[in-house]
Amino acid sequence: MNILIFNEYRHEKQEEAVRKIYPNGIHGARADLFRADGHTVKTVTLDDENCGIDRDVLEWADVLFWWGHIAHREVPDEVAALVRDAVLNGMGFVGLHSAHNSKPFRLLMGTACSLRWRSVSKERIWTVSPGHPIAQGVPQQFVLEQEEMYGEYFNIPTPDELVFLGWFSGGEVFRSGVTYRRGLGKVFYFQPGHEGFPTFYDPTIQTILRNAAAWAGRTCRGNVLDCPHTKALEEA
Ligand code: ZN
Repeated sequence: MNILIFNEYRHEKQEEAVRKIYPNGIHGARADLFRADGHTVKTVTLDDENCGIDRDVLEWADVLFWWGHIAHREVPDEVAALVRDAVLNGMGFVGLHSAHNSKPFRLLMGTACSLRWRSVSKERIWTVSPGHPIAQGVPQQFVLEQEEMYGEYFNIPTPDELVFLGWFSGGEVFRSGVTYRRGLGKVFYFQPGHEGFPTFYDPTIQTILRNAAAWAGRTCRGNVLDCPHTKALEEA
């Protein structure tokens, strides 16, 4: 599978504590995981020209993983629109953690995608769709000792499928793993992954990321963006 990983890559450059956890960037940790599985991986970052994203690389990608946080606004609108169009034409999109507020995810959802948040909480994640492909090999529930609390109301469209439900030690709950179909493509949003915690090294999280790539990965290539005029197949 061809996996494209976009990372904002600002926290790791600016904060020693984050760099210590992810010395090769948050994108590096995920690239290592997918390369070890035999996938072809390309990583791009916000500071690359046009975020390193153009039509060709989106055509190449079977699935795009997106992590961004403090600089969503610096992603050009044109890049976000290209990503949306690529999903409509069959590419998979996996939005991680603060990507809830990213331009491509908001374009794909059509809603504000706002939520409540508070840093450092224990999170217990419940698998509420155990039969879903993204939940295979994932226990009924598991704990992340440190995560950022994301709480309801999460202003997303009603998901096609709710796969994971998060509970936080402050009492909040959150729809932590949700899926959508948009055009020919599939979208998965997954809430864990705050930059200050080693979430992406957690074996259960890694299982979910692998499953997400396999589930969301492109199954077809098409063009749903045109509205061609067509001739009748037979006389009326
Ligand atoms: Zn965060």
